[in-house]
Amino acid sequence: MDNKDQVIQGVKCVVNTCHYHHPGDLCSAGTIEISPRNATSTEETDCSTFKPTDSMK
Ligand code: SF4
Repeated sequence: MDNKDQVIQGVKCVVNTCHYHHPGDLCSAGTIEISPRNATSTEETDCSTFKPTDSMK
């Protein structure tokens, strides 16, 4: 984890293929953005902050 990265309290994320995923189903991105606007179902929403584990910063 980079120094600026920070585990977000209250966010559980199971996406273990994300660069920001942290053991214990936590997110270490510091802040996250969820989209899209006007979503009508749970399935339609996504974390826009997601970044594949093997991508470079
Ligand atoms: S950035 Fe999004 S997908 Fe990645 S660990 Fe955090 S909440 Fe999950």
